[in-house]
Amino acid sequence: MIRFLLLGALFLLIAHTFWRVVDGVIEGAGGTTKRKRRMTPSVKLVRDPVCGTFVAPRQELSLTAAGQTHYFCSEKCRREYKR
Ligand SMILES: [Zn+2]
Repeated sequence: MIRFLLLGALFLLIAHTFWRVVDGVIEGAGGTTKRKRRMTPSVKLVRDPVCGTFVAPRQELSLTAAGQTHYFCSEKCRREYKR
């Protein structure tokens, strides 16, 4: 009986890991781009140099200057930085 329970736990662990991997592959292939962006811990937050807020990097709110890309929380902050 104990062996059966252990086997079940092991199976759950493998299934869990498997789906994590599948999720990662789908996200890596861009399968979630059309869906609403999920907040995942894997998303590295960057600091808005204008107001100091930590934001998830967004291409439309970025600005590359001197080889460095800065990300902003809003268009307002981006304009503020350009000045
Ligand atoms: Zn800001």
